[in-house]
Amino acid sequence: MKKTAFRLSLLLLTLALLFSLCACQTPAVPNPAETDPSFVTDPATDPATDPATDPATDPATDPETDPETEPETDPEPQKIKNLILIIGDGMGLDHIAAGELAYGKDYGFTNWDFVTVNTDSVNANGYGPVLTDSAAGGTALATGYLTVNSYLGKDHKGNDVQTILDYAKSLGKATGVLTTDSLLGATPSAFSAHSKNRNSSQEIFNTQVISGVDLLGGNTDSICTGSLSTIEAQGYYYLDTFDKIDRAARKEMSYWQLDMAGTSADVQLEDAAYYALKMLSRNQEGFVLILEQAYIDKYSHNNDFANMAHSVNSLNNTVEVILKWMGDRTDTAILITADHETGGLTVGSKADSYTKNFVGEGGKTVYYDWSSTNHTRAKVGLFTYGITTPDYAKFSYYGSPFTIKNIDVFNLMKDILDNPETYNPYN
Ligand SMILES: [Zn+2]
Repeated sequence: MKKTAFRLSLLLLTLALLFSLCACQTPAVPNPAETDPSFVTDPATDPATDPATDPATDPATDPETDPETEPETDPEPQKIKNLILIIGDGMGLDHIAAGELAYGKDYGFTNWDFVTVNTDSVNANGYGPVLTDSAAGGTALATGYLTVNSYLGKDHKGNDVQTILDYAKSLGKATGVLTTDSLLGATPSAFSAHSKNRNSSQEIFNTQVISGVDLLGGNTDSICTGSLSTIEAQGYYYLDTFDKIDRAARKEMSYWQLDMAGTSADVQLEDAAYYALKMLSRNQEGFVLILEQAYIDKYSHNNDFANMAHSVNSLNNTVEVILKWMGDRTDTAILITADHETGGLTVGSKADSYTKNFVGEGGKTVYYDWSSTNHTRAKVGLFTYGITTPDYAKFSYYGSPFTIKNIDVFNLMKDILDNPETYNPYN
């Protein structure tokens, strides 16, 4: 436990340093998390999350060493209340390295608990391996079912299956999906809609808008913006600027359409994530939030290194906003993964006849190459923070304790929701 606390403080210190070092980058919208002092959870108002009051770390309150202390009833075990899953669409391990090198940063999350993930999907008979698309890849993460490419929220036989957000809702938690893609894109739809065809935008919209997910937020899409009355009929407040979102922060359900098309001039995921945390954290039972940075995949399909690196960096900025929000909280788990790798990206340290060059921030050259304009079978990562080290052998059937299946990300999330005390490292 002390090791975890030490690592936590070390990480927060590193991140604080990174924040101050990165002030040179001017985001399109000022990062509200940096200017809002009330954003950080105040440990003084929440004694349950203050590590200093943990009796195990304070010998003075240890009943064995202090005879004057009355025997206490066992303190209420702490729970993991909130779960945040961040998906870098197409983000292989070298994409992360590319972001770090291009922006001259050490991403703190690369030091978290880590395991590699196989991302293959299956065919209609349930057999694999099949090189996955974002629909089947997202469905595996969202539901724990390996399925057919293009299927959303369905098993390989075409049956609708429960998502982790459905399950969270049954536990009284608030739920949210926030993506830089259209809400009708494959990854957000896998968590909130049901369709055999990822291109059936209208069917996806129709099933998503009745999903009961409290926060649905995405890049502006003409089907969504043209369906205002349907959205409002389901109880959503339709909001399309941060100003409106801020003013409507106390509304129960909201539907966001923001210009998050992936360039540095657009609304950034990290800024939208700030408002999502503000909204969902009002729920006393906690929340489950899915965040997707979709542009890592889109730019990798185009082999566009500069914009891909910008998108990876945006994902890391989002992690930093979440950690700032967490402050001393000890009730929140963060998971970072990808649905698959895109582009067959490799990053090297020296120029040779295969590499291309990119001059990153600070003038350092990054050497890299792409081997594909499509998805690959390269393993991706799962990084976890705020929870005890997961025992993946408990649910992975993939044969190695060091590589799990994509469906095990769902299995882990469900296990955390089922055993919120076991996963809290402060118990
Ligand atoms: Zn893709």
